Amino acid sequence: MTARRLLLLGPPGAGKGTQAERIIARLEIPQISTGDMLRAAVAAGTEIGRRAKEVMDRGKLVCDEIVIAVAAERLSQGDAQKGFILDGFPRTKAQARALDELLDAADTPLECCLAFVGDEEELVERLLKRAEVEGRSDDHEEAIRTRMRVYREQTAPLIDYYRERGLLREVDALGPIDEVAARVEETLS
Ligand code: AMP
Repeated sequence: MTARRLLLLGPPGAGKGTQAERIIARLEIPQISTGDMLRAAVAAGTEIGRRAKEVMDRGKLVCDEIVIAVAAERLSQGDAQKGFILDGFPRTKAQARALDELLDAADTPLECCLAFVGDEEELVERLLKRAEVEGRSDDHEEAIRTRMRVYREQTAPLIDYYRERGLLREVDALGPIDEVAARVEETLS
């Protein structure tokens, strides 16, 4: 049976958000993106947004405490009880452990970690192109390079974390969106 409690892992520019949108349309479960939620908090000028903005603009990670609280609150909502796709969370071991505790306590463990893999330089190129189109404030080259380094140092170790738990499935992130979507569908089926 198709997994309904998923998380997407991968470097910036790997297309996690885009692929998450395809999966949610098919499985009718919510996409939970801590990046989107933090950007919304920044736009709304909340206390969390105020604390997160500068860190985000530099391409660094918002502290575990804030992000775990944001994710936990979202996961407790009704629509997440039949499944979810986490996109961009967890990004550190501490976040991964907190997520495990949270899901274990509810007896709804994670079923699959879909890890997107792709050449860093190609992904940086993709992000520079997105910067021209979307104008995100953390899509300038320096922040992009920082996000790549942060991914390599803090988030990539989670690949082994989930491999050890038997949850890891890897997908090649490079190529046209439709091709990647087809690979994802095959991997999840
Ligand atoms: P994203 O949209 O997932 O690329 O996230 C954009 C930015 O939001 C990141 O560069 C971080 O500054 C922050 N952020 C999003 N998710 C997390 C997370 N799980 N842990 C820490 N910072 C995060």
